[in-house]
Amino acid sequence: MIQTLRFSDPGFADAFRKIEERGETAPAGVVETVQAIIADVRARGNQAVFDYTLRFDRLELSAATVEVQAEELDRALASIPTDSRAALELAAKRIADYHRKQKQETWISTDEADVLLGQMVRPLDRVGIYVPGGKAAYPSSVLMNAVPAKVAGVAEVVMVVPMPGGEVNPFVLAAARIAGVDRVFKIGGAQAVAALAYGTASIPKVDKITGPGNIYVATAKQLVFGKVDIDMIAGPSEILIINDGSGVPAHLAADLLGQAEHDELASSILITTDEDFAKQVADEVEKQLRQLSRESIARQSIDRYGAIILAQNLDEAIDFSNRIAPEHLELAVDNPFEILPRIRHAGAIFMGHHTPEAAGDYLAGPNHTLPTGGTARFFSPLSLDDFVKKSSIVSFSRAGLARLGKEIVHIAELEGLQAHARSVSLRLGK
Ligand code: NAD
Repeated sequence: MIQTLRFSDPGFADAFRKIEERGETAPAGVVETVQAIIADVRARGNQAVFDYTLRFDRLELSAATVEVQAEELDRALASIPTDSRAALELAAKRIADYHRKQKQETWISTDEADVLLGQMVRPLDRVGIYVPGGKAAYPSSVLMNAVPAKVAGVAEVVMVVPMPGGEVNPFVLAAARIAGVDRVFKIGGAQAVAALAYGTASIPKVDKITGPGNIYVATAKQLVFGKVDIDMIAGPSEILIINDGSGVPAHLAADLLGQAEHDELASSILITTDEDFAKQVADEVEKQLRQLSRESIARQSIDRYGAIILAQNLDEAIDFSNRIAPEHLELAVDNPFEILPRIRHAGAIFMGHHTPEAAGDYLAGPNHTLPTGGTARFFSPLSLDDFVKKSSIVSFSRAGLARLGKEIVHIAELEGLQAHARSVSLRLGK
């Protein structure tokens, strides 16, 4: 049964710490294992990737078979039911439309000293997308990563997806085809991340790696950061629902379970001002749990990291939410726009009784890759910005350099850097 807590409970801080600290410590040995895999891929390239793929995914690969051929992507798209294809295409279109609005333009302008200054925005040349494939298949992850990359203008999007036992999920391949992924490789885990970061004879080196994965993938991304860019290190997923006693208990129970069924470490919390409503949601959670095919996963998550918190008023609920900076925040209240201005930290905010978080997972348009574990205090959702970088542009005229040269020379001399100073004074004929 989902636990019910009050802020005033003596055990509240302890119960909550357990939820906040879940997933913080990697199981012993993971870092060492991943370090060894990365070193091996750097040293032995393709062969190391093929060896680990045989060991972890029971799949024998060679340079001739590691890549999914374009015809295979076409066949996958043709093989899926038309309503599945229509749903994925609708999602791709909505994700593209939303991310297009995030586009930043190159700009150039003249300042008061008549110096031309600007910022040039350029897409990354090549991006690698990790699509998890170990325990389940996620076509939505393909769309959420590849579509923004393509909208940003990335020239080559390379996808890696493990195919345990050689099994290919046609929806994942169809989504790759719809999103315009350029190349797909049948590899996963730390070896795939290492291959993308360093390149092998078959797998091209990329500039950035995005996408979710298990602890081996997340650790590998962390270790190759700096050699390539990465998006973020996603921890276990979480939802916080703020409620004022309005709405339908069964709906909010389903939203809580929608998070819990992801993974045993997921956390689902409802904070409500209405005690009777809290009881009804708790009963509904129990009832709906029994109907889930992933009951065992969801039950472990709900039992350990689920909670219904009784707040005295919405102020208390909002303060708590701002403190924990949830990945997903549902404002399941009668007037969500009234409290929106007071929300300071959340990955994505779902407004009102008709906006289940699942809408955001698949096709509302915003990215479903969101900061977890309180990092919404300083991180943002995956966006178009992740697939571009910027260069500064500076252009002085002779007159402009004459106007600002004295101060440049002054600061250079302050720092004791004579050549810096001379590069200006020589141009000014001094
Ligand atoms: P995965 O693709 O992340 O991992 C599979 C790979 O793990 C294997 O190919 C193998 O190389 C490696 N591996 C497994 N055991 C290993 C071992 N003992 N030593 C070294 N390497 C090993 O697939 P998964 O395992 O199913 O995990 C998917 C993860 O992605 C889950 O944690 C899921 O919650 C998460 N996910 C998150 C989001 C999101 O948006 N946040 C979306 C989808 C999935």
